[in-house]
Amino acid sequence: MRRHETAPPIAIARGRGAWLYDADGRRYLDAISSWWVNLFGHTHPRINRALTEQLERLEHAMLAGFTHEPVVALSEKLSALTGHVLGHCFYASDGASAVEIALKMSAHAWRNAGQADKREFICVAGGYHGETLGALGVTDTALFRAPYESLLRPAHIAASPDARLAGPGESAADVAARALADMEQLLQRHHGRIAAVIVEPLVQCASGMVMHDPGYVGGLRRLCNVYGAHLIADEIAVGCGRSGSFFACEQAGVWPDFLCLSKGISGGYLPLSLVMAREHIYQAFYDDDVRRGFLHSHSYTGNPLACRAALETLAIFEDEAVLDRNRAFARTMTAALQTLAHDPRIAHFRRTGMIWACDAVIADPAAAAGFSRRFAAEAARRELLMRPIGNSLYLMPPYVLDAQDADWLGRRVHDVFDAVMEAT
Ligand SMILES: *Cc1c(COP(=O)(O)O)cnc(C)c1O
Repeated sequence: MRRHETAPPIAIARGRGAWLYDADGRRYLDAISSWWVNLFGHTHPRINRALTEQLERLEHAMLAGFTHEPVVALSEKLSALTGHVLGHCFYASDGASAVEIALKMSAHAWRNAGQADKREFICVAGGYHGETLGALGVTDTALFRAPYESLLRPAHIAASPDARLAGPGESAADVAARALADMEQLLQRHHGRIAAVIVEPLVQCASGMVMHDPGYVGGLRRLCNVYGAHLIADEIAVGCGRSGSFFACEQAGVWPDFLCLSKGISGGYLPLSLVMAREHIYQAFYDDDVRRGFLHSHSYTGNPLACRAALETLAIFEDEAVLDRNRAFARTMTAALQTLAHDPRIAHFRRTGMIWACDAVIADPAAAAGFSRRFAAEAARRELLMRPIGNSLYLMPPYVLDAQDADWLGRRVHDVFDAVMEAT
């Protein structure tokens, strides 16, 4: 709150495409998709129209004892995108709620199977799954956890598959293999008490766009099968095409038992989250006894407006061959970032799908401490919305930029970096 006295929040008045405009008419390129939610730019004509039409029909109805067309259509579309392997959807509003649902549903499914001891979780070092108590319990980010540590139920933390940990002559796959060996030890020792392993497939976004070899996710699937644990894929940030495929798990060639989606699924318009689950999870709750049912609800679960925004988002993916277009754009964007990538003050330039990241090399710890804040302020002065995580700069733009934008963005990021480093 004290920081706001010297750096007041910027009052955004309107948005159009990739740009946000403040109350004074200054503009900002939203290079991080407003915290990773916005896929096709602000005030998108198609999503606006779909929402306006939905608004005239039905704004909301409870999803207990009732259902509605948008939530049914959305569930069927998403199920089809997994080849109906993840054929069941459970709805909520925010990402953290989806994680809570997956954790509860996993433990409850084991309980219904007569294995009530399986109620502990394994998460991955540096992982982030949201900030409600259950989600925070499987989150390994000291800054978010520390004040609430005494409120949290501890989880087992497995070694990080971070590709940057590769030693000389090692590949990302070697690091992944080492991390999997550590995961296997945990499962060997504790499998009788483990309900599920939770992972952010391909990119741990909140801990600084930490990327790993897709083989890690495939390896987790194998280990979970061998040791009888569920696999929860938290695709809240990496889903919806962000990783390059619609679901990040596709690149590992496996499906989890639970897949959490939120953020981009509504195109960045409205809070919507959901957990997709396999048939065997559904069957674990298929019973006349209400105590064996999954009793979890949120008031705005499956809100029709949010579902309609999600349906239009999926329609845009289909109609505009978005994944192909992104692949072409990614080559252009990567080319536009080459001078930054080769700057001697930059390390670990990396990319997965539509996420670019690199680390600023700052020797002085005092200078490193304020880097992110200084960078964000300088970026805003130069019409750019970016918020580095620690020393890690990243771009996570909406899927609507063209070659000219990429060129502008590449140069502008480097200019901001130069200005911040000179003042450091
Ligand atoms: C953002 C995020 C969450 C939490 O979502 P909220 O909507 O902020 O609660 C959970 N997991 C991952 C991987 C995220 O990036």
